[in-house]
Amino acid sequence: MRASKRSVNTAIDILQNVFGYPSFRQPQDEIISTLLDGGDALVLMPTGGGKSLCYQIPAMVLPGCGVVISPLIALMQDQVNALRLLDIKASFLNSTLDANTANEVECSLLAGQLDLLYIAPERLKQERTLSLLRRSPIALFAIDEAHCVSQWGHDFRADYLLLNMLHQLFPDVPRIALTATADARTRSEIISRLDLTEARQFVAGFDRPNIRYRISLKQNAKQQLLHFLQDEHPQDAGIVYCLSRKKTDEIALWLQQQGFNALPYHAGMDAGSRAEHQARFLREEGVIIVATIAFGMGIDKPNVRFVAHLDLPKTIESYYQETGRAGRDGLPANAWMIYGLQDVIKLRQMMESSQAVEEHRRAEQHRLNAMLGLCEITSCRRQALLNYFDEILARPCGNCDNCLQPVATWDGTEAARMALSAAYRTGQRFGVNYLIDVLRGANTDKIFQFDHHYLPIHGVGDSLDTNQWRSVFRQLVARGYLRVDLERFGALRLEDKCRPLLRGEEQIELRRDTKVKAARQKTKTLLPDDIDVKLWEALRDCRRELAEEQGLPPYVIFHDSTLRDMCSVLPQDLDQFSELSGVGERKLQKYGPAFMRVLREHLHEVQS
Ligand code: ADP
Ligand code: ZN
Repeated sequence: MRASKRSVNTAIDILQNVFGYPSFRQPQDEIISTLLDGGDALVLMPTGGGKSLCYQIPAMVLPGCGVVISPLIALMQDQVNALRLLDIKASFLNSTLDANTANEVECSLLAGQLDLLYIAPERLKQERTLSLLRRSPIALFAIDEAHCVSQWGHDFRADYLLLNMLHQLFPDVPRIALTATADARTRSEIISRLDLTEARQFVAGFDRPNIRYRISLKQNAKQQLLHFLQDEHPQDAGIVYCLSRKKTDEIALWLQQQGFNALPYHAGMDAGSRAEHQARFLREEGVIIVATIAFGMGIDKPNVRFVAHLDLPKTIESYYQETGRAGRDGLPANAWMIYGLQDVIKLRQMMESSQAVEEHRRAEQHRLNAMLGLCEITSCRRQALLNYFDEILARPCGNCDNCLQPVATWDGTEAARMALSAAYRTGQRFGVNYLIDVLRGANTDKIFQFDHHYLPIHGVGDSLDTNQWRSVFRQLVARGYLRVDLERFGALRLEDKCRPLLRGEEQIELRRDTKVKAARQKTKTLLPDDIDVKLWEALRDCRRELAEEQGLPPYVIFHDSTLRDMCSVLPQDLDQFSELSGVGERKLQKYGPAFMRVLREHLHEVQS
């Protein structure tokens, strides 16, 4: 046993005095004791769950330096700055440092002067670095974003595969691997590749109750996005995800024209502008990043108020990770998505044309189907999401679109049968638009050309309009009754699953798609009703000035939640100020007086 009672106390001391938080969240304290006792840990916690403290605090308690391996080179400087602000001795080593600076960092490591050192994995495998570590006092190894070791996921980094050597080279140094990726397959890959069979596993609940999930039908994507932003996030920072680089550029430009502070981000841009846009997103307030999935991993900006998807992610894992970037500070945030039949077709197309082996492809199909299922369900989205990660939520959440506005369904059995026979009778060679023409009894040249006006189904479906039929087809594809044949330009083909429905042995309930207008709703804002908006703005200005002076992102000074507490607690002096969550000793000294001045001015104004 390495840990004494005292070091456990020290951990809570550090939490309260350095970080300014009153208590640990479950299971942070147990993870920390495991490391303090010399054990290894595997931590699965959702984004925003509080993973960093799990290695930062033991690194400060144990003798030697905590070495954090992270693929996120671009963010290391910010992470280190934020720690230094708390008087924690932190540094980083990666390819962006010049030789002199790197040398200095190495010397302070050797001299035992560092609490935390962030290292890029490609750096770690160099003999020079390993020899340096062998000669230095090491408290622990933290492997952040540990799912990068998984070849199954989409963040795979070859350098991560070498990390199992840490165990062989430093058998006595505790290791902690952390990820927000929840699925069982990735977990077992992490364990085997990083040699963590002996590690204690900590799986925190994956629910993110402050995120409101909404998925609606794509009708006019740009207008829908605009309404969403104008109604609910006119000033907020957020991320808009698109599938293609071209669309990313286009939407960013369009949002700029609409008066938003929007910037594109994708792998096709040069590294310089990418870094600049990321930095602006972190440093300025209210910036919207329009991005492909290339953006986001490790972005720990706590006050991202919304994540909007203009295109469907390929899997629930991706959807959950991407939406998880909203609301890390625990305050209300929106996960908003629109999707339509075209998305399904496009994604299926991408999968069919991928070079992946058959087994992999089938798994991808399976995961896409689960994603489509989530889009179409009429019950609580959060229950379905958590269920996907094998977690049970006993009651509907009350904070997703389906809970807030129950979806009407209708008996679509008859319509579904008509749709399926239309596909069948026309030889399974036509796409959705043509089938709708046939069902609605159109007399187009193409229909005459194929003699389809003689078919008995021609015109049987004129009681539904085109949009309603599109809705029926979309749901049939999403639920796996119809398949999009890509060899034939999107022709719809019947799947075996159709049989019982066609034979009249099965009924089908369909979602009644609502019009965009009806679905337009205001959600509650970040601020409680009783908060004085003027004070809130004044505190934000104060934070912005301090941040600019020091070249830091504003949230590094204080989180929105701490500012919000200032507004509702209205501390009278520094003593009361020090009680706020997020105010540690260092920040109290450094920033307390400036914020107290704003608070006093406000009180003065109110009283006079
Ligand atoms: P993750 O890395 O799991 O996404 P972070 O480590 O960035 O999450 O933590 C998310 C936020 O929660 C941070 O702003 C952090 O300061 C805050 N936090 C972490 N632990 C606690 C705690 N015990 N009490 C209050 N806030 C906490
Ligand atoms: Zn719900």
